[in-house]
Amino acid sequence: METNEEESKELEPESEEYDFTKPQYEFKPNEHHEWKQQGPYAICHSCELIHAQFIGMDKFLVGLDEQGRPLFKKKSELT
Ligand SMILES: [Zn+2]
Repeated sequence: METNEEESKELEPESEEYDFTKPQYEFKPNEHHEWKQQGPYAICHSCELIHAQFIGMDKFLVGLDEQGRPLFKKKSELT
């Protein structure tokens, strides 16, 4: 297996300049999250780092409250 070491040396780690090529993303304050349910988890896709919280199999994400926190309903309440 060939590895081209000379070529990789030309790539200098300029992580700060890399930000220019990043696609635009909206910065939202931490108290605002865009929760989407995936199985038993509510997953936030709006923060730079995706994070999730366990909500359990018997709950559904139904929306956000006035403070932007996720609202859940139990399965039994929906039927
Ligand atoms: Zn978030």
